[in-house]
Amino acid sequence: MRNFAIIGSGPAGFYTAEALAKAYGETARIDIIDKLPVPYGLIRFGVAPDHQSIKAVSKRYDKVADDPQVRFVGNVAIGEAVSIDELRGLYDAVILATGAPHDRPLGIPGEELPGVVGSAAFVGWYNGHPDFADLDPRLDGANVVVIGNGNVALDVARILSKTRAEFAGSDIVGHAIDALDGSGVRSITFLGRRGPHQIAMTPKELGELGHLAEAAPSVDAGDLPPVADDEALEPGVRKSVAHLRAFANAAPDGTKPKKVTFDFFARPLAVEGDGRAERILVERTRLDGARAVGTGETYAVPADLVVSCIGYSSPHIDGVPYDEDGGKYRNDRGQIDDGLYCVGWARRGPSGTIGTNRPDGQAVAARIAADQPEPAGKPGGVALDALLAAKSVEKRLEILGDVHMGAFGLGVGVAHLLLKWSALAALPNAWALLLAPVLARSALLIPMNLFPAARAESLGAISREGNWRVGLLIALPAALIAPKLAVVAIVAALLVAWWSSHRLNGGISGDVYGAIVEITEVAVLIAALT
Ligand SMILES: Cc1cc2nc3c(=O)[nH]c(=O)nc-3n(C[C@H](O)[C@H](O)[C@H](O)COP(=O)(O)OP(=O)(O)OC[C@H]3O[C@@H](n4cnc5c(N)ncnc54)[C@H](O)[C@@H]3O)c2cc1C
Repeated sequence: MRNFAIIGSGPAGFYTAEALAKAYGETARIDIIDKLPVPYGLIRFGVAPDHQSIKAVSKRYDKVADDPQVRFVGNVAIGEAVSIDELRGLYDAVILATGAPHDRPLGIPGEELPGVVGSAAFVGWYNGHPDFADLDPRLDGANVVVIGNGNVALDVARILSKTRAEFAGSDIVGHAIDALDGSGVRSITFLGRRGPHQIAMTPKELGELGHLAEAAPSVDAGDLPPVADDEALEPGVRKSVAHLRAFANAAPDGTKPKKVTFDFFARPLAVEGDGRAERILVERTRLDGARAVGTGETYAVPADLVVSCIGYSSPHIDGVPYDEDGGKYRNDRGQIDDGLYCVGWARRGPSGTIGTNRPDGQAVAARIAADQPEPAGKPGGVALDALLAAKSVEKRLEILGDVHMGAFGLGVGVAHLLLKWSALAALPNAWALLLAPVLARSALLIPMNLFPAARAESLGAISREGNWRVGLLIALPAALIAPKLAVVAIVAALLVAWWSSHRLNGGISGDVYGAIVEITEVAVLIAALT
């Protein structure tokens, strides 16, 4: 058996798990460990809430997690709760897929003023990231400056521009939509050091700016190079520049109260204000080849809120060499050291789309296979669980694939059972078997909502029980004909439960719980009817 630990459950982590599971099948166990209690990294906490079709990629990761060889272990921060050296002692290979969650600093005076936030924080706030729920960005002022000319800057400006109605179908969190709905923002200005030909905004996302209900984009035609120069551009950039040209040529729309302005050739020098951001001092630039150089001309842009979208860096982790310039782990094509690898943004730095991480994950899996022809004989997840228990780290196993019920979940499950059986007693006929679970589930929702940690696992187990119900109702006529079958089935289910709890290292599997409950009920019913 080979044991792998992947640190980080974003796209890079899941694509690596997928490649390892495919390469080794039954002969490998893969733990995907995340510091957050829920998986998917930036798919959940970065990708814009009004881009649901992009977020749907997580369905593919669900399938990876459904594989019995793959386990998600949430709420465990590597480098804090458990060190890299400890992990390396437990797993054949440790793969860092931590992404790049830290905002790069602006490096200008005044960036520490209230009202200046990084995009990781701002995006995390509107996406419900637990670390940024209390960000409370300043939305009472009229002017926002967004520093950067990439897709993240575009997301930020679009989210600030949309009306409540335009968020229909999104999964934006309540605190953010309420704050945005009541905001006083009227002007959003992108600052970009270089010009329209150097933007990193993709055409589809840029085009959306032209279709907002209450905001209109504005580009100074004088910033655009001659049309003939667009020919030399890569096709995607050419399409984006075509959008900018359309924005520049559009007649001003006086009906829209918000304006999104592209200020090109503008380098931020300082954030200024009396105890909070009020304006940003900017230097006009010009291009020298592909580089922006200052012209010495300066001006101020009003800014009650400044959101910097200028890139990210990976977290420092003790024992892992770091490339300070690249903001990522020092590695040679994914390998950091013997048995230690990195993948995704942690390997390449913060660039590329979700899909870019797939070949990355496959390449690292192939590299591991080449480096380690034989299993290392390390203990893997069982030993991690023991280590976490010894350190009193409360890990969370989300409902991915099978449910893993802890003592609390099991307690709620037993309560569910008792409620069901009392409903059965009150309605003594075969139809009660169908009706009673509905009553019990409704009754249980109230206490379960009081204990959110138990709620997920209990609800998961109960809904899985529903799947068993269908199967067993079909089996019921057969069992009626041969009642002894039910007794055999109960014994079999108990054996499976015992085996499963050993295989899953403690706790009881939700599927097995469901099976026991349903088989017992069928047996009770058969006993009553015969
Ligand atoms: C705001 C924003 C919007 C984006 N929108 C799009 C888009 O629309 N389309 C697109 O194709 N791409 C988009 N991207 C890019 C895409 O999200 C990335 O390519 C991708 O998420 C990178 O994957 P990753 O797995 O390397 O990192 P992440 O997705 O960041 O995953 C890293 C995971 O590691 C965990 N972690 C970090 N440190 C630790 C630790 N010490 N211990 C345990 N766990 C840890 C984190 O909690 C996280 O779950 C966007 C990026 C951003 C920032």
